[in-house]
Amino acid sequence: MEMPSKMRAMVLEKLGEPLCFKELPVPQPSPQQVLVRVHACGVCRTDLHIVDGELTEPKLPLILGHEIVGTVVGLGEKVHRFSIGEKVGVPWLGYTCGECRYCRRDQENLCDHPGFTGYTIDGGYAEYTVADQRYCFPMTPDCNAAEAAPLLCAGLIGYRTYRMAGEDIERLGIYGFGAAAHIVAQVAVFEGVKVYAFTRLGDNEAQDFARRLGAVWAGSSTELPPDELDAALIFAPVGSLVPQALRATCKGGKVVSGGIYMSDIPSFPYRLLWEERVIRSVANLSRRDGEELLELAPKVPVKIEVQIYPLSQANEALDDLRSGRMQGAGVLMVTDEQ
Ligand SMILES: [Zn+2]
Ligand SMILES: [Zn+2]
Repeated sequence: MEMPSKMRAMVLEKLGEPLCFKELPVPQPSPQQVLVRVHACGVCRTDLHIVDGELTEPKLPLILGHEIVGTVVGLGEKVHRFSIGEKVGVPWLGYTCGECRYCRRDQENLCDHPGFTGYTIDGGYAEYTVADQRYCFPMTPDCNAAEAAPLLCAGLIGYRTYRMAGEDIERLGIYGFGAAAHIVAQVAVFEGVKVYAFTRLGDNEAQDFARRLGAVWAGSSTELPPDELDAALIFAPVGSLVPQALRATCKGGKVVSGGIYMSDIPSFPYRLLWEERVIRSVANLSRRDGEELLELAPKVPVKIEVQIYPLSQANEALDDLRSGRMQGAGVLMVTDEQ
């Protein structure tokens, strides 16, 4: 295929404003980068936090999008992991320094000098993107790009959050039943864990959805579940869920927040934390998380429910995510697969 010189992209030029449709030059890969023709790119809550200015260090102008599935169509001179025509996934973690104390002790997700796709590096709300080969994942040639894209953030961060809840859990609460939750719930059910789903008050649709995916109980986040939880994962960016979730956990229970941003956590009595309950956050992902989840997902098999939008409707997709109108995962279909 002849490489075009221009591409369509949805660009964030100013915080708080809708993305602008632009024609931009197709980027050129640097030595470690692959040039990727983007087929599908997931829409993530993090994108909203960037647009809204809650994450404070975006490059501007910026092409959002960090759940990218596409085909390699160009290679930097040092690329050895991929060849032309291969399908790849590009996740949020776009670069790490390899030298800081976190990188050296196997915590690359906490790197001091990281690059993040669709935040500090241009992402996938465009027909083409470049990505460092060392952080891309090989995808199976026959994977459905739209259904695979949400695995790359909702799936990965969700999976890391779930793993942080520890082994040997029997009862798992999930607060905020969106893209990440619907993937994690399937993995947990597959592993024999009982899932309790918590949604916004009165969101019967999301509660039915959770039950369909195997949750043993679904209710509103203000309710206490019928059984004490061993762990609770929070995917909604709502700080008041932290004491709520603590209240629902058993002695020694863990509350893990999977989001990159959360509104302030209200003060709460120490007795909610007493008896060795634990609160922690999860930041970013490591490449190992990706390898593990991409191997596990087909075994479950994880079925991803997607709401598809064309690239030109990225603003509508973000609005739907913001207002809770999205069930499962929102995905921009960018170019056809060849
Ligand atoms: Zn580092
Ligand atoms: Zn994300």
